[in-house]
Parts: sequence; C-alpha cells; structure tokens
Amino acid sequence: MQKPVLFDTSRVQARAAQHKLQPFKVKQIFFELFKNQNISYEEMTTLSKDLRAELEQDFAPLSIEMEEMIEASDTTKFAFKTHDGYIIEAILMYHRQDEKYQVSGQKRKLNRITLCISSQVGCSMNCLFCVTGKLGLTRNLTRDEMISQILYANHYIKKRFGKKEDWTTWAVRNVVFMGMGEPLLNYDAVIKSIEVMLAQDKLSLGRRHVTISTCGIVAGIQKLIDDKVDVKLAVSLHAPNQTLRNQIMPIAKAFPLDMLMKTIDSYVKATDNRIFYEYIMIKGITDTPELAKELVELLRGRLAHVNLIPYNPHPSIDFLESESATIWKFKSILERGGITATVRDTMGRDAKGACGQLGYEKVMG
Ligand code: SAH
Repeated sequence: MQKPVLFDTSRVQARAAQHKLQPFKVKQIFFELFKNQNISYEEMTTLSKDLRAELEQDFAPLSIEMEEMIEASDTTKFAFKTHDGYIIEAILMYHRQDEKYQVSGQKRKLNRITLCISSQVGCSMNCLFCVTGKLGLTRNLTRDEMISQILYANHYIKKRFGKKEDWTTWAVRNVVFMGMGEPLLNYDAVIKSIEVMLAQDKLSLGRRHVTISTCGIVAGIQKLIDDKVDVKLAVSLHAPNQTLRNQIMPIAKAFPLDMLMKTIDSYVKATDNRIFYEYIMIKGITDTPELAKELVELLRGRLAHVNLIPYNPHPSIDFLESESATIWKFKSILERGGITATVRDTMGRDAKGACGQLGYEKVMG
C-alpha cells in the first residue's frame, strides 16, 4: 500500500487530532514542505526528531520518485517514476534577464523559473506532431503526483541556486500544464492540484502564474466557466481553419473549430481573461502567409495573444521546422493585423524536453 503524502491536509489533520498534535505543529509540517522546500524527513529540522519518526511511519513527503535528470543550460528535465512504475516528465525552465541588462563578462541573471508539469501518463490525443501522443494514454495523474513534481523541483532549485532569506526568491513561481497529457481530460485532479498551488499556506502561486493548456476540449472549457476557475488559459490552436486542424489534430473532429471558438468567447466573457493561443510552426504546413492572414481574421476582435512555437523535430515524425525568416514574417503579418504575438524560445531541446518531445527516448523512430 502506498502511504498518503505529507501535504494531504485532511489526513494530516485527522492524525493530528488523534495524537493531540497542536495546530501550529501541522502548520510547521506544511511550512517545511512548501516554504522551506524540504522533501526528506532528515531536512525538516524545525520538527522534533520524535515527530518526524512518527510521521515517517504513516506519510511519504512525495508520491513520486526521481528516476533521471538531464541538466542543460536553460532547462532541467526530470523523469519521475510513479508508485506503479510509470515514467512522467517535468521541465524546469530558467528565464534569464534580457541581454540588454547583462553585465559584460557575466552570465545573464536568473529572473524567473517556470515548471512545466505532466497531468497524465502519456496522452490520448494523438496530435500528429507530438511525441507524447505516440505513447497513448496509460492513466491520469493524481493531485498528489502533480503537486509532487513541483515540490521536487523546488527542492532541486534550493540545492542548485541556494536559498536566500526570503524563501520566495528561488522557487517555482510559474506552473504550466504543458507536459505530458491533456489537463482538461483529467479535470477533477487538475482543479484539486490548482487549489494546492494557490493556497496561501501551500504553494501560494498567483492566479496569473498558473496556466492550463488544452488542445481544445470544449466540454472542459465549459466546465472551467461553470466552476469559475480563474487561472490562465492557453489553447493549442495550431491551425486557423477546420480543414487543416482536422488533418493535424484528430480532436478537431470531436470539437470543431467554430464550436471551440464559441466556447472560448463565453470563457472570455465570463472571466475577462486573455487567451494564449499556441500555434506550431511546421514548414510548409502551418507557416504560410495565407494562414497567417486567416489567423488574423479568426482572432480579430478577440482577446488574444499568439505564441508561435517553432516545431521541435523528432526522428519518428516527418515534419520539418519552419525557417526562422518564415516565422518572423508570420509574426509580422499577425502584428500588422493587430494581433500580438511572441515567438517561443526553443528551450529544452538539448535535454529532449522541448514542447512535444516528452517521451523522446520511448518513441524512437
Ligand atoms: N495537451 C495540452 C498540453 C500539452 S502542451 C495541449 O495540447 O495544450 C504542449 C504544447 O506543445 C502543445 O501546444 C502542443 O501542441 C505543443 N507541441 C506538441 N508537439 C510539438 C512539437 N513537436 N513541437 C512544438 N510544439 C509541440
């Protein structure tokens, strides 16, 4: 039997009641995990030895184990193993200060750390350009498995970058559900994990610092509206018309583009949140000027920002990456049409942890 995790509030509180543990002790336990970034009992020195020994019998700090880690200059990729032996991945991204602020001869200063987490083991969506899709879906991740990815990363950050007095300095401040899986097909656990991310006594992330990314699960977006879930929403659009979307994303058959856009409009009306549209740049397929113009038409008058993602190649997939000049031209057409756009950094490639590359080794062409 797997032990419950140490951040399972109701179980820890139940145990505290049984053992007449004072409420501040419970607070201290959460403080060790969430603020001190400790994930082993030895490190939790603000708790007495006896208490640690007691807790250890019944609770595990995390519900996943680190299996392998690849450290690259701009990212660290973690492969975690679940209790039932599956591998899931999470990517830490180090955003550094803009070059114009760089002190000559020195490395650009770190100013933001984002963690990309997985919500499922594999994925059932089978988008043609994505490696994770080739794995198929094994199972949903639990709330605790999603939170464990963040706690592990926070501990790693503390070890690697040191810890300043102010604990907020070096910790994950942004979480994106852009790892393996489709978060809106694991709705309940994802929402529960977001509660832990936002809670003041837990991870205390800002609402605008948590991003759900979906390939366009209309029913899930509708649920976000009904449940008044107010975090950032990214939509993997990748094509401005139904024909092309159908060809590269099988989910477009179940949730056609016009239906998707209508639901997004209701979401924007309900939340007043800008939508981040992800748009993949595949040579000769999604990157033509005509498609850029079509995208302008589609998004005109909508509260939108477009992230252009250069296609990350994999030997088992036949697509090619767009030329850099093509990407910048595409961007300028969007901007001339009044749509703001950014070109996503191709972070994580050297760790095989770039968008759509999770599961790289498992799917070798
Ligand atoms: N299922 C969710 C979460 C995954 S996010 C979603 O689709 O939004 C991962 C992002 O990387 C998605 O936008 C996905 O479409 C994109 N992606 C997949 N394969 C890619 C590749 N080979 N190169 C670049 N981006 C890719």
